[in-house]
Amino acid sequence: MSRADEIITRLTQIAEDNHGYAGAWKLKTGGKVVGILPMNFPAELAHAAGALPVVVQEDRSPITLGRSLIFEFYCGYTRSLTDQAATGALDGFDGLFLVDHCVALLGAVDAMRFVLPDMPIYLAQFTASMDEAWTPVEVAKKVNLLRHRLETLCGSTITADGLRDSIALFNRDRRLLRRIYALRRNGRIGLTSAEMQALVKSAMVMDVAEHADLLDELLETIEHERPPVAGGVRVHFSGHFCHAPRPELLTLIEECGASVVDDDLFTGYRYIATDVPESGDPLEALTHWYFDRNTNVPCSTRAQTSVDWESYLVRTLAANAAQGVVMLMPKFCEPHMLYYPELRKELLERNIPHLLIETEHEGLALETVRVRVEAFIEQIKRGARGVLEPA
Ligand code: SF4
Repeated sequence: MSRADEIITRLTQIAEDNHGYAGAWKLKTGGKVVGILPMNFPAELAHAAGALPVVVQEDRSPITLGRSLIFEFYCGYTRSLTDQAATGALDGFDGLFLVDHCVALLGAVDAMRFVLPDMPIYLAQFTASMDEAWTPVEVAKKVNLLRHRLETLCGSTITADGLRDSIALFNRDRRLLRRIYALRRNGRIGLTSAEMQALVKSAMVMDVAEHADLLDELLETIEHERPPVAGGVRVHFSGHFCHAPRPELLTLIEECGASVVDDDLFTGYRYIATDVPESGDPLEALTHWYFDRNTNVPCSTRAQTSVDWESYLVRTLAANAAQGVVMLMPKFCEPHMLYYPELRKELLERNIPHLLIETEHEGLALETVRVRVEAFIEQIKRGARGVLEPA
């Protein structure tokens, strides 16, 4: 096995067994493990408090005890979170922190509080309307509150210098991941979407310095050891907030002839796109980051007049010479469902082929999806434009 393969395999294993990794980290360091929920929580703060921040992932287990605790028509991620709380899968965390962004996530937090009465669960509400004069002021206050809560939980003080160091570390890790993205986008390496996902997912759950060191090492060899694979229809993956689409679904799409050049998935480019400013006051920098992230890769859970997701998407597709978009949408994800018509309209007007695939926590009919993706790829090869089947 090449060194690149070894590192990718290691990161994939940690991404899959992140509870095991966190448990081992806790034994080794004696520190707190803080579960953070997507998509806007600044992990740097938890790191600066001395904790291991872990983005809580969707669990592959079928929903059991959690079924009666939350609406069936909430997305798979929130149902999984509730189930994980009810079945003890979150017991290894010392606390859970989040910045809310949708009603379903708020529902999951209520259910988690109900079944985990002794678990510190702290929710900060960042104003979603980005253009108001008071929004930066309010977000700055919430960032400061989060800081105090983390200090209390961890029994430590978050100093300005400590926070600056954490910000620099996370920026380093994001930069390294973006370099790998760029190599793949430019056709200089061969990396599957499932592997790319594992690199980002492991960044969400690992000690950031250890992760960045492994990426440094990976970047030394990857161009020699992972030559590009020729051919394939150039495709962009879009959507899938909060949790990772199943790797087998990504693999299936590639098996059908797609060559994935970029994405705006949360467990993907959206997570790593934006660095926190390294100059000035570090708490203010985290406030800036909240705004910068939405400007860079707009999200339909936020409202901002100067940017929108569809314009970003069209620009990105053009820059990468992508031939089509596969839109991955978790079933019942309201912020995505409600925004989808805007995306569809824009892609239709510009004759950009796209295919919508709805995902679900359980019961995704992969072979049915395969037929649809094969047809999509074939139609692009034959020069078809626009939406290639009814959404
Ligand atoms: S944004 Fe979508 S995927 Fe995320 S918690 Fe809300 S409904 Fe679920």
